[in-house]
Amino acid sequence: MNNTKQFYIDGAWVDPIAGTDFDVINPSTEESYATISLGGEADSNAAIAAAKSAFGSWALSTKAERLELMESILDVYMRRSDEMGETISREMGAPIDMSKMAQSGTGSAHIKTFIRTLKGFEFERELRDNTPNDRIIYEPIGVCGLITPWNWPMNQIALKVMPALATGCTMILKPSEQSPLSGMLFADILHEAGVPAGVFNLVNGDGPGVGTSLSGHKDVDMISFTGSTRAGTAISKNAADTLKRVSLELGGKGANIVFADAAENAVQQGVARCFNNTGQSCNAPTRMLVERSRYDEAVEQAKAQADATAVDLASKEGRHIGPLVNALQFEKVQGLIDVGIKEGARLVAGGLGRPEGLNRGYFTRPTVFADCNNDMRIMREEVFGPVLSMMPFDSEEEAVAIANDTDYGLTNYVQTTDGEKANRMARKLRSGMVDMNGQARSAGAPFGGYKQSGNGREGGEWGMDEFLEVKAIGGWFPESA
Ligand code: NAD
Repeated sequence: MNNTKQFYIDGAWVDPIAGTDFDVINPSTEESYATISLGGEADSNAAIAAAKSAFGSWALSTKAERLELMESILDVYMRRSDEMGETISREMGAPIDMSKMAQSGTGSAHIKTFIRTLKGFEFERELRDNTPNDRIIYEPIGVCGLITPWNWPMNQIALKVMPALATGCTMILKPSEQSPLSGMLFADILHEAGVPAGVFNLVNGDGPGVGTSLSGHKDVDMISFTGSTRAGTAISKNAADTLKRVSLELGGKGANIVFADAAENAVQQGVARCFNNTGQSCNAPTRMLVERSRYDEAVEQAKAQADATAVDLASKEGRHIGPLVNALQFEKVQGLIDVGIKEGARLVAGGLGRPEGLNRGYFTRPTVFADCNNDMRIMREEVFGPVLSMMPFDSEEEAVAIANDTDYGLTNYVQTTDGEKANRMARKLRSGMVDMNGQARSAGAPFGGYKQSGNGREGGEWGMDEFLEVKAIGGWFPESA
């Protein structure tokens, strides 16, 4: 890509009006390999104006027209999927094989799911069987500001752009300045697929700049945000004056409750899940609660698994974890490992410093703390690195109480072969999602959290609802078109 300093506005790549240079760093080498522009308010305003002027016609597009466009996006995306995997790997450090499969794969998976969802979606419905003169119409909310993080860049971008397109909204995407190139490649894909000018726009920038311009602008009708709880709060406050809808997907501190009767590999699976993407997932199961009779064995298993977790360059093929995304995250994770040691948690694997043989790059040792308590900062704060915190529990009630004693409420995990206990736990846990015995939720299930994990739901028809207004009509002529 040779236009990395440009923005995609009104169907074309354009030079910034008020851009400042920003280096994109390869986290495996700590070296800059591209320069983007961070836009200013004038750039955001140009993109908002383009989206506003395109809304009138795109909002009236038919379901068939939107489906045709989304199928075309899928075709181009599939053709460029490896390029997407390579781009993500280089900008945020996901190992290349994992990046091509999982990181890039989430994009195509969401495009497919939203095509299927749109096919079955009814934009006009009856209120009830016995109310023929009532009509409920779902209409696009308008111009949407989409603000995304760096950790699963294409996952987040597809989860916002596809339902916005499917519902007839127009949009401005501000990808994370830490992982901007995958967003720019996606803009290229949309352009090649024939998205009409102004429907999709991209402006690079940071939170205080473009992010704040979008959330405060009166012509932006809705903000869909994924990122930290800190930024979610700032966006909500800045959006309050214009009363726009704000949909938030924020941080998490998931508990993984391992009962004594769990499957033999439950601990290993839990550790692997926690360390996946170098621990940089909002839904990572970072607090492992183990029934006391199995606790000592579980600590040994977790230690063995952490010691066996290879850490290496993102560009290397094979199964390993890569570096953290940047220097800031590296310092933050190192700091919290230090806090865990000082708070008295028992360090059983990993610890401070880089793994042996890696003296450059934001690499962190896969770390396990045992004998934690739920007051420790490593049990309460999102570490966002390969760090697992373990503690024992004695009863089902205690496990539920510990799991729910958190400001977050995104995903909790339950490991038991007792079906009644599993279902009972699923009902009691205060989180938007509960995954049991390693079984993933199916495509189209809503993704989102309770409490400070946010208020939005992404994916499937719930993900479409976020971008829709509901109009209720009385005096409808049921026999007329
Ligand atoms: P971040 O909040 O620092 O940044 C996310 C995005 O928001 C970036 O594009 C950034 O430029 C922008 N931003 C920052 N401050 C802003 C402001 N005041 N106004 C407007 N925009 C602003 O988060 P991050 O470090 O990029 O991502 C990691 C966080 O994202 C973690 O907390 C993680 O849990 C969360 N996350 C949540 C989900 C979910 O679905 N719940 C998914 C992935 C990541």
